[in-house]
Amino acid sequence: MARITFLGTAASIPSKKRDNTAFVFQHRKETWLIDCPGSPAHKLLKADINFRKIKRIIITHHHPDHIYGITSLIHSQAFISPEPITIFSTSPSIKIIKNLIGLFKLNREQFPRVDFINVRTLSVFYENNYLRIRKISNKHSEESFGVKFIYGKKSFFYSSDTKFSPLILKKAQPFNYLIHDCTASSSYFRKHPAINLMHTCALQLSRYMKRDTCAKIIPVHFLTVERKEEEKIKAELSCLGKRVIWVKDGQRLKL
Ligand SMILES: [Zn+2]
Ligand SMILES: [Zn+2]
Repeated sequence: MARITFLGTAASIPSKKRDNTAFVFQHRKETWLIDCPGSPAHKLLKADINFRKIKRIIITHHHPDHIYGITSLIHSQAFISPEPITIFSTSPSIKIIKNLIGLFKLNREQFPRVDFINVRTLSVFYENNYLRIRKISNKHSEESFGVKFIYGKKSFFYSSDTKFSPLILKKAQPFNYLIHDCTASSSYFRKHPAINLMHTCALQLSRYMKRDTCAKIIPVHFLTVERKEEEKIKAELSCLGKRVIWVKDGQRLKL
């Protein structure tokens, strides 16, 4: 049994109840943080996860809502946590994080060392007897990617931010759970078509789920800046019934 704790479920602009999307995956002795927006230590503490033990982090791309908490997390591990942190990402994010570490002087000895694994040319970038993690390029920004976690006989695919693409999902299949960008409803994207070139709408997702898979869907990355947007997203996914797992910030799921 693995568990996922959602630290945030919003898009770039948080709402009162939802902060930027990030989550923690835990299985046996493995703990992974996937994306790292603001106040990570505080959110991890609220979720009863020891922030000092977050040593493996995946950054799916270099946009602020997925990366800006990294320096805070390194800073919070001063003095108490000498074991190095390993960040799995691609060149644009690695370059920004290295620059930030230099700017904030987080390379001094009281902070944990940070190692980088550039996953750009890799498919499977982590593997042991009970966990395998695969990178799948998506359609969002320079060198952005989603990740597939295979643990025991189960798996999930996290799309990260992406334009909707059946081809990406075909590459990621099969999976038991799909954690997917569900930024807004189709009516929002009709008003803002440019955003749909980088993100997925709830209607695209529900059509795919009905036709191409019997997996469960965990929609995330909600942009709820317009009135009743969350209700509109829910309505577009409602045809999937109990196959939709609608999560709140701080919520933990056993998968
Ligand atoms: Zn985002
Ligand atoms: Zn993004």
